[in-house]
Amino acid sequence: SLKPLDGRVAVVTGASSGIGAATAVRLAADGARVALLARRTDRIEALAATIGDAALALTVDVTDPGELDAAARTVTSTFGPVDLVVANAGVMLIAPFAEGRRDEWQQMLSLNVMGVLDTVRAFLPGLLENAAAGRTADLVIVSSLGARQFSPGFGVYSVTKAGVSALAASLRAEFAGQGLRVTNVEPGVTDSELGSKILHDEWREMLAARKAGMNPLAAEDIADAIADAVARGRNVHIRELIVHPTS
Ligand code: NDP
Repeated sequence: SLKPLDGRVAVVTGASSGIGAATAVRLAADGARVALLARRTDRIEALAATIGDAALALTVDVTDPGELDAAARTVTSTFGPVDLVVANAGVMLIAPFAEGRRDEWQQMLSLNVMGVLDTVRAFLPGLLENAAAGRTADLVIVSSLGARQFSPGFGVYSVTKAGVSALAASLRAEFAGQGLRVTNVEPGVTDSELGSKILHDEWREMLAARKAGMNPLAAEDIADAIADAVARGRNVHIRELIVHPTS
């Protein structure tokens, strides 16, 4: 039977856990062939094995532009032209600003900003070729509610997310006339490994305690929103998805 994403070729960065993993699974379930990009080879290979022939695991550090370029060539030669890119890989290193943890600031800027820029740079030519040929071309950026809601300790994370939300709007202005759809996703608190990677012990524990008292979204909830948005007819452009837990 016909599936909503039959014939589509997708790339998901940060596909080894959380939102990226759930998105890769959902896109494949909807008929797309999917390349899973992340650093943890064991994770993406295991996930690709559960998806089957429609999945390709590629060990890629998105802070390395050369690895992204190589991945773009590999995906295209394996599956054909890429018409759906989900720039999702990110890290949230919360800490008191006054501690001035420049290494952590640099990590967030490198991955959440430069990593997204380089992901777009590597795949944009292919997306625009698809669009020019009258085929679907979707760029999905996974930003955060942190782009518009500001909390203590989230300063530099918010800088990165406000930055990529602005990028999404700017790319839309630059390329919408060429048929590229750009969807910016701003999820609220979502169950994933994100918080467990916070390096500041006290703030990691504080955030975990706060999350335990909430009813967060599941990674699959964000995956569903993304899959639904990109499955719309070519005349429909879902530009922003702000997804909150209900309570
Ligand atoms: P996870 O920590 O579960 O996932 C992060 C993903 O990014 C992993 O697959 C990780 O894989 C990958 N990644 C990290 N560094 C790199 C790198 N250098 N190169 C390639 N991949 C990398 O967290 P989430 O699923 O929650 O996060 C996904 C996105 O969603 C992030 O951009 C995050 O900011 C955003 N978000 C999350 C929210 C939440 O509440 N969870 C809310 C709003 C936005 P690996 O380590 O194997 O490389």
